[in-house]
Amino acid sequence: MSESGSNGVKDRTTGQFRCLYCFTRVKPPRGAETFTCENCGYAWRIWWFSPTEPRIRGPVWDQHEKLSREKMKKQGD
Ligand SMILES: [Zn+2]
Repeated sequence: MSESGSNGVKDRTTGQFRCLYCFTRVKPPRGAETFTCENCGYAWRIWWFSPTEPRIRGPVWDQHEKLSREKMKKQGD
C-alpha cells in the first residue's frame, strides 16, 4: 500500500500500467482499448484516465466467453 500512498511524487512512467495478473509493467499503444500482457498473455480492458495514463478496467472476459461459447456450440450440434 506504500506505493499508492506516495502520490506526492510525480510518476514519470506515464503510459504504463501494471498487469494485475503478473505485476509486470506494460506499455500499451496509446488509445488502445485492450491490451494483452506480453509477460503472462492475460488480456485487459483499458480506459484512459488521460491521453497518457492508461488504467485497467478489468479482464477481457468477452474473449474467453466467445471462445467457450463457440466451443459449446460445436459440441452441442
Ligand atoms: Zn501479465
